[in-house]
Amino acid sequence: MMKLKIKSSDLGKIDAHALETYPYECVGLMIGTSDKETFEIREVVKAKNTLNSPVAFEADPQFVYEVYRDAENRGLQLIGIYHSHPNLHAYVSARDAEFMKFWGHLVWLILGLTQEKIIERKAFTMKDGKIHNVELELTDEPRPS
Ligand SMILES: [Zn+2]
Repeated sequence: MMKLKIKSSDLGKIDAHALETYPYECVGLMIGTSDKETFEIREVVKAKNTLNSPVAFEADPQFVYEVYRDAENRGLQLIGIYHSHPNLHAYVSARDAEFMKFWGHLVWLILGLTQEKIIERKAFTMKDGKIHNVELELTDEPRPS
């Protein structure tokens, strides 16, 4: 199975972003490196959900492009997108699957949460038009969920 490697501090940032954006979906970008089997996150960049919606997200394309270009300039890549599902599970929604047709080579980290806490984190990627699970792996000490 493919892996998504992340430091607990970066995962903590994503968790905090999802909780502070509740009841709306949050969205952010993950910068790092990737090869055939592994995505490795080096930095997490918060974006703004321009839809302010509890069931959908969109990020400003100009902002995404700037983050992408800045990463490339430093020898890194835009490797993934994270977003949250308030009061829902961490699954690939029909809308997410549509986006993945264009951005499927990236890793998609999805968080399910309530107002109080993160309930689920799952990662996916698309290969040959099919959605695959990606195993989340902390590169340092485990973090209580
Ligand atoms: Zn979604």
